[in-house]
Amino acid sequence: MARYIFVTGGVVSSLGKGLTTAALGVLLQARGYKVRLRKFDPYLNVDPGTMSPYQHGEVYVTDDGAETDLDLGHYERFTGVPARKTDTVTSGRVYSDVLTRERRGDYLGGTVQVIPHVTDVIKQYIQGDTGDADFVLCEVGGTVGDIEGLPFFEAMRQLVQELPHRHAILIHHTLVPYLAAAGELKTKPTQHSVKELRSIGLQPDILVCRCEHEIPDGELRKIAQFCNVRESAVIPALDVDTIYQVPISYHDAGLDREVLQAFGVTDQSGPNLGTWRQIVKGVRNPDGEVTIAVVGKYTGLADAYKSLSEALTHGGISNQVRVNLKWIDSEIFEREDAVTHLEGVHGILVPGGFGERGAEGKIAAVNYARERQIPYFGICFGMQMAVIETARNLAGISGASSTEFGPCEKAIVGLMTEWTKGNEVETRSQDSDLGGTMRLGAYDCDLVPGSRVGSIYGSGRISERHRHRYEVNIGYKDSLEDNGMVFAGLSPDGVLPEIVERTDHPWFVGVQFHPELKSKPFAPHPLFASFVAAAVTQSRLV
Ligand code: GLN
Repeated sequence: MARYIFVTGGVVSSLGKGLTTAALGVLLQARGYKVRLRKFDPYLNVDPGTMSPYQHGEVYVTDDGAETDLDLGHYERFTGVPARKTDTVTSGRVYSDVLTRERRGDYLGGTVQVIPHVTDVIKQYIQGDTGDADFVLCEVGGTVGDIEGLPFFEAMRQLVQELPHRHAILIHHTLVPYLAAAGELKTKPTQHSVKELRSIGLQPDILVCRCEHEIPDGELRKIAQFCNVRESAVIPALDVDTIYQVPISYHDAGLDREVLQAFGVTDQSGPNLGTWRQIVKGVRNPDGEVTIAVVGKYTGLADAYKSLSEALTHGGISNQVRVNLKWIDSEIFEREDAVTHLEGVHGILVPGGFGERGAEGKIAAVNYARERQIPYFGICFGMQMAVIETARNLAGISGASSTEFGPCEKAIVGLMTEWTKGNEVETRSQDSDLGGTMRLGAYDCDLVPGSRVGSIYGSGRISERHRHRYEVNIGYKDSLEDNGMVFAGLSPDGVLPEIVERTDHPWFVGVQFHPELKSKPFAPHPLFASFVAAAVTQSRLV
């Protein structure tokens, strides 16, 4: 039977609960256990798919097509366990399930209430589809005391009671601030946060205390006493220079030992963290550096491109170089010459994106990369813009554009109205809902023999994750190929262009999918490894 680890937070948000969850997953795996990692988000959106990246950071997409919180990306990058639809749920989804049941008459005339109906659904999500996991780690978004979070905390409280003894534990995150004027660390916010938890019937087993300074033993003892937690279970969490150090630091601080102890599990053998030590060593001691310009729209918020920046770091790991990212808001190229901003960079990447704003700037960046022979990587929207650039500037199709920006003369990129998923045909129209209706999740793609991507992947058929509503119009294949842009990857039915590459360029690849979602520090994605390698070559030229 699976054991449950609930991960919560208090005092402030952004304490790194997601990273703790991912790192603890690694530590348990490294001791030989099977894990599943889950995220429970209290907001009322059914999923984050329709939320602005500025509000919520990137939307992480799973193989089975769920649009999820970016923490699921951390989980998967750290543990390698593919996240699934069932690993994420929001209050919006829970209430929508409850209301559907109510309309169906499932409650047989009873009054529908938060306890037990809403909490029952939450408990079903927590305990559903756990497979053969030894430990299920469930992170609850937000902080204790948030009004939307209450049903989740109540469901946890009930489960702690209902499961056999020592089958569920609670790890609570708090902040231990340093007051410079007083020259002191303050434990009171931690005490208050735990008081808040206890007032709703939850006693933490382990406290993770984020702090910018070493926490002296006396303060750790004080926290333990006031919060009714064993002293060894107060785990200090200091900032680290690379996130790949987090599992190692948590192990050194005793987190995995305390978790097992709280479950009453005796495990003498420590975790094998050799791979992680190797990764950290590589990141700390690069043999050179390259600069990649990321030309996008949400460049003001690093979380908006989380998987992407991670995948580029992984590309650096596989080439033993540091990858510096130069974030550029594409709108700037609509006012200023690209040279001013792109001169000297070793690679240009246009990531996924939506909407017309900044699109012309992205096309200008593609043009610069193509003409100057700078390695270019276009992801999803970045591929679509690359195709429009070739159509306009080489194939002489001056009105080439995407219908995403409104009706256009030459729809090189158009709305996907029909595609096959397994044995089923999915259909969409202009009037379809926005939420959950894109071409989402893993789809196969066949690579053209002899293509650059064929040799990068070393395989003829690949599977990658998608999140798009528009497609490159296959009808333009011949005129684009006549102008050096080869369709190097297609959906198995040959209908949807998945990859384009240029034959007259050192490294120019556009992909309709999101390879960044599958890259791991211990298994860098081949496209990112190859793109960074091309940037290294470029850096030796300039
Ligand atoms: N907006 C484009 C589409 O829906 C690209 C999406 C993306 O980059 N993820 O097709």
